[in-house]
Amino acid sequence: MSWEWQKRGSINYLTLPKWQAQGVDLGFSTRVGGVSQVPYDTFNLGLHVGDDPTAVLENRERWLDQWEVPWSRVAVGEQVHGTNVLWVGEEDGGRGIRELETTIPAVDGLVTQSDVGLMAFFADCVPLFFYFPDIQAVGIAHAGWKGTAHKMGEKVLECLEKAGGRSENAWVAIGPSIGPCCYYVDEGVAEQFRENFDETQFLSRQDDKHYLLDLWEANRTTLLQKGVLPENIDVVATCTADNPGWFFSHRRDGARTGRMAGWIRLVVRS
Ligand SMILES: [Zn+2]
Repeated sequence: MSWEWQKRGSINYLTLPKWQAQGVDLGFSTRVGGVSQVPYDTFNLGLHVGDDPTAVLENRERWLDQWEVPWSRVAVGEQVHGTNVLWVGEEDGGRGIRELETTIPAVDGLVTQSDVGLMAFFADCVPLFFYFPDIQAVGIAHAGWKGTAHKMGEKVLECLEKAGGRSENAWVAIGPSIGPCCYYVDEGVAEQFRENFDETQFLSRQDDKHYLLDLWEANRTTLLQKGVLPENIDVVATCTADNPGWFFSHRRDGARTGRMAGWIRLVVRS
């Protein structure tokens, strides 16, 4: 079973049933079912994009309610298009969920062995979800073109290995983001990939100065090179820019738009 749509109440989301079966809550939200006004309509979960905070908090409450998780058991990092990864513990529960001031600074990747839910925000950038069965840990990462060029997936897997896990055992999911159908980039971006990858088959030249970039394949390449098994990588292959009814898209809508949430949590069963 690969990625699947589910609906609870007014909330639609994508999930992976086989991860759920292992006791890992995983979800990627849509723009549908919230209270935010245009241009953040309606289920904007990002506090940092200029939306009315009251609306965002109402939306976040709906999101957490459907996962049956209190505000105090969620952690949010400040996303800066970097590749820092941080281990989150019990004490980080509640950070960044009600206000920006308490957000964990400058971390685009979060991992945990606790039951604190990890939440990150997306509107075209690639959500990477991780489950490490051998050390019972989960992770989430935000990889736009910069994070992808600098191999964010590898950084998360290095964190796992330092903690005693093995990449060969890792499960990784690549969620909705801008696809190779829509993501035009210029020579400067292409050059960053050429500097960091031996082969750049995920760049497709369109004219003298432009390429279509397949961020899904670039991330998958990084994961495979680090030892993740192909059968343990689930790519949803759903483009955010192509689906205005379901998703916000920075490339399509411009800077004033909302954010979907990526969500992962290790459900500790008694
Ligand atoms: Zn597309």
